[in-house]
Amino acid sequence: MIQSKGYAALDPKSPLVPFSFERREPGSNDVVVEIAYSGICHSDIHQVRDEWGGSIYPMVPGHEIVGHVTAVGSAVTKFKVGDRAGVGVMVDSCRVCDNCKIQSEQYCMKGMTPTYNGRDKDGNILQGGYANNIVVDERWTYSISQKLDLAAVAPLLCAGITTYSPMRHWKAGKGKKVGVVGLGGLGHMALKFAHSFGAHVVQFTTSENKIADAKRLGADEVVITKDSDAVAKHAGSFDLIVDCVSAPHDLNQFLSLLRLDGTLCLVGLPEVPLPVSPFALITNRRSLVGSTIGGTAETQEMLDYCAEHNIVSDIELTSIDKLAEAYERVVKSDVKYRFVIDMATLPKT
Ligand code: NAP
Ligand code: ZN
Ligand code: ZN
Repeated sequence: MIQSKGYAALDPKSPLVPFSFERREPGSNDVVVEIAYSGICHSDIHQVRDEWGGSIYPMVPGHEIVGHVTAVGSAVTKFKVGDRAGVGVMVDSCRVCDNCKIQSEQYCMKGMTPTYNGRDKDGNILQGGYANNIVVDERWTYSISQKLDLAAVAPLLCAGITTYSPMRHWKAGKGKKVGVVGLGGLGHMALKFAHSFGAHVVQFTTSENKIADAKRLGADEVVITKDSDAVAKHAGSFDLIVDCVSAPHDLNQFLSLLRLDGTLCLVGLPEVPLPVSPFALITNRRSLVGSTIGGTAETQEMLDYCAEHNIVSDIELTSIDKLAEAYERVVKSDVKYRFVIDMATLPKT
């Protein structure tokens, strides 16, 4: 076993506290990563607060993990000690089902193994990245270019791949009109990718103070969602809208903006069902779809694309003792645009 220390939630209501625990003894295919930075995803907050149900405590959250390799198992081929490495939302899957065989492990037919708030194949509780180290099979560990700022890479491991994957799958690109709903951690990466792929991008936001940033991040147009006239001007015109909102909101407003065969893709995960108007759906033969993170091959492809095109997250670096403040600001949509924890601030004792 290897010793780890981090911050854990002990229940849904209390602030996270320092927490010592053990991780599995590294096996022949495992990589040990000393964690340098860990992003704060809204999914961490949903799970810490048990908003989706079924949370397991104590819980060390964190699935936007970057650092350096400190040990490799005898069968590891992709990494050597000292390399940069990243870990995202999943750390294992059945490996043999049809979806795993095509490296869409996030859709493993037996269920992917999450980085935290889940159990490994032996039933042990897994802990995430608000910690000093992690042990992960090399298949679920990614290479990170030296060209990119390491702290700003962390959010690519979840916010990045979760928006890259649907943008690729539904072919955001030149000649396409693409909408992004919600300018938070996921939203700002969706905007950067859609812009980079050459689409005409419209950012929808509830926050008037984000208009200038949205333009800087790549939006061709910005629409304030409560301005119904401004929204209505876009009726029936979008090929694809990616909805990155964390809280309950009206989907029909965005369905009505899709052109013939247009697609509204949900990546945001509000904790309650969202009503859909059948009339908004049948008009223009619209599709309402969802997508979750990306497979291992696509995650590496996304990181390589980001290195080639110099794309990282816009981050606010924070310290581990300020988690409560960071969580409150994320919930208030007041982060520009992702908090990343500097793990050097973890108490040494
Ligand atoms: P975030 O940084 O908090 O961003 C969410 C954004 O949604 C906010 O910045 C805000 O944007 C908008 N928003 C918040 N409350 C709203 C409301 N009541 N009505 C309308 N808009 C509202 O969160 P995130 O980390 O990007 O995560 C977003 C969601 O995606 C979460 O539910 C998370 O769990 C989920 N998620 C899913 C996956 C997946 O695999 N599918 C992966 C990661 C995260 P404006 O200020 O611009 O309005
Ligand atoms: Zn996440
Ligand atoms: Zn599988």
